[in-house]
Amino acid sequence: MTEHFSEYRQSLIRALQEELEAAGSIPVEDIASQIRDIGFSCSMCGSCCKRSGGDNRVFLTSADLELLESCPACPEDAAVPMVPDGMDMSSASSVLEHLFEFDIDIKGRLHTFGWMLKRKDCGDCFFISEDGSNRCSIYGNRSMLCRTYPFYIEGGKLQTSECEGLGNGISYEDSLVLAGYLVERYITEIKDTILLYENFEEIQSSAESVEVFNKNLSDGVLAFVVHDCTGMSIFSRKLFM
Ligand code: SF4
Repeated sequence: MTEHFSEYRQSLIRALQEELEAAGSIPVEDIASQIRDIGFSCSMCGSCCKRSGGDNRVFLTSADLELLESCPACPEDAAVPMVPDGMDMSSASSVLEHLFEFDIDIKGRLHTFGWMLKRKDCGDCFFISEDGSNRCSIYGNRSMLCRTYPFYIEGGKLQTSECEGLGNGISYEDSLVLAGYLVERYITEIKDTILLYENFEEIQSSAESVEVFNKNLSDGVLAFVVHDCTGMSIFSRKLFM
């Protein structure tokens, strides 16, 4: 690892550690009060879970991965590598379209950061019901992002994503629960990112990397290396060409 990269990484880690310290003193009551001012009640439109609603990738924290592992209703591959918005990892043409967004190593593997929830072939979340009710089949085990949508905290400040449920009334109790989840999610994400940087191993690539990737793909093999808070994991899948 070059000295320059190592210094850069240390500076990122120091900035995150400062953010983590500040996150620990965010008053949950203040966040809850802001949520009440904005207002929110889920209208069950399903937009955040469906591909038709836009970017519906559900990023998973380390806590979410543990929850999925203990969830009896979840398949083993409920968590898949985080891929660019719009990429369908079961389609070779879609993978090729997004290839420029990846670092490829000498074994032809695509490097990515973190995990997301599995999606159906149509691009909707794997866990949204098929009966039109838009219910979540793993509601009690849903991820931190799902629990807190359409809110998130960035740089210590409450932010919102697009959602038709914003502006609706919310009770004092529900706002407090939601605010508690939000702060927990924010802290977990910072901790995960610090560990990701600490455990990150530089990607070994060469002029032949793309050629090796193309050879693997023509053999129907798509392999990812996922960098996360625990280090690196390999994820492979067969593609039918
Ligand atoms: S896990 Fe549930 S709440 Fe989250 S995106 Fe999927 S269906 Fe929606």
